[in-house]
Amino acid sequence: MAILVYIENIAGAFKKSGYEAVSYAKTIGDATGQPVTALSIGKVDATSLENIGRYGVKKVIAVNTEQLHQFVNQAYAAVIAEVAKSIQATTIVLSNSFSGKGLAPRIAAKLNAALADGAITLPTITGEAWQIKKSAFSGKAIATQELTAPIKVIALTPNTVEAVEAPTAIAFETFEPQIAATDLTSVVQDIVQATDKIPLPEANIVVSAGRGLKGPENWGMIEELADVLGAATACSKPVSDAGWRPHEEHVGQTGLAVSPNLYIAIGISGAIQHLAGVSSSKTIVVINNDPEAPFFKVADYGIVGDAFDVIPKLIDAFKAY
Ligand code: FAD
Repeated sequence: MAILVYIENIAGAFKKSGYEAVSYAKTIGDATGQPVTALSIGKVDATSLENIGRYGVKKVIAVNTEQLHQFVNQAYAAVIAEVAKSIQATTIVLSNSFSGKGLAPRIAAKLNAALADGAITLPTITGEAWQIKKSAFSGKAIATQELTAPIKVIALTPNTVEAVEAPTAIAFETFEPQIAATDLTSVVQDIVQATDKIPLPEANIVVSAGRGLKGPENWGMIEELADVLGAATACSKPVSDAGWRPHEEHVGQTGLAVSPNLYIAIGISGAIQHLAGVSSSKTIVVINNDPEAPFFKVADYGIVGDAFDVIPKLIDAFKAY
C-alpha cells in the first residue's frame, strides 16, 4: 500500500495547490503508515523538484517525456494511473483544480477506484471505509462521502489545507510511460498566461466587485486594492456579461468556484448563484451601501458604505500598515 500525489506545475513551477496536496497526502500517510510518493509530469524546474522535500515527501517520480510537456488530459490521466499501478498505490491525491477536475474521474475509472472530488477534509478512516467531506450543489451543501473501494482517488479543493513544512531528504526517479496514440488526439501546443497577476483559483485573497461599481472605468481602485493586498481580482456575472471585466474573473454557479482565505465582495448583492462559487471562502468581508444586501447574511465582517468612499480609505490604510 502506498500513496501517490500528483503535483501540478505551471510553466515549470509547481503550483501552491500542488504543495497543499503533498501535505494532505503526507498527513494521510503518517496516519496510515503508508509511504508517499510524489509525481511530477512535464518539464519542471530543479528548484520546484527539490522543494517537494520541504513538505516531507521522500521520493519523487518525474515523467519528462516530450509529448507531455503540455497538459493533455487523457494522456496525463493514463500516466498517473500507470505510475499508481507501478508503485501499488491505493490512494491517489491530486488538486481539484481546472485540470484536476478532468483528471480525477478518468484516473478513478482506469483504476476502478472510489472518487472523492472536491474534498475539503482529511478522511476519517475506519478500516477500508474512508469518510470525506466535500462541497456539494455548487457549495450550497457539504456532503459526507464514504469511499469503500480498495483504491481511492481524492481531489483536494485548493486552499482547504495549508502546505506544512516538514523538510526531508528526497530521492528522484524517472519513469518512461507507455503513451497510447489515442491519448494524444488533442494536444495543447502552448499555454500563455494572459497576465502576470495571481491566478484566481490559486489566490489566498480575492478582491471581487459587482454592478455596484457602476462601470469598467471604476476598476482602477479594485485593482489597486488587490495589488496592495497581493490578491487576485474577481467579479460577478453581470459584470463579465457586460464586458466590464474578462470572463475568467466571473465567480459563482456558472463561473469559477473559489475558496480563498479572504474574499472581499464590493458592490455585490449576494445572489444565491454568486454565493454558490464563494461560500467556502474562509473569511468573507462585504462592502455594500445597502444594509439589507443578502451578502451580509454570510459575511464574517461587513462595512455598510459607499464603495467609492470606503475603498480609497482601505487602500490608504493598507499602504500605511
Ligand atoms: P446587483 O444585483 O445589481 O447588485 C449590486 C449591489 O451593489 C447591490 O447590493 C447594491 O446595494 C450595491 N451597490 C450599489 N452601489 C454601491 C456603492 N456605491 N457602494 C457599495 N455598494 C453598492 N451571478 C454571479 O455573480 N455568478 C454566477 O455564476 C451567476 N450565475 C447565474 C446563473 C443563473 C442560472 C442565473 C439565473 C443567475 C446567475 N447569476 C450569477 C446572476 C445573479 O442572480 C445576480 O443577478 C448577480 O450575481 C448580481 O450581480 P451583482 O451583485 O454584481 O449586481
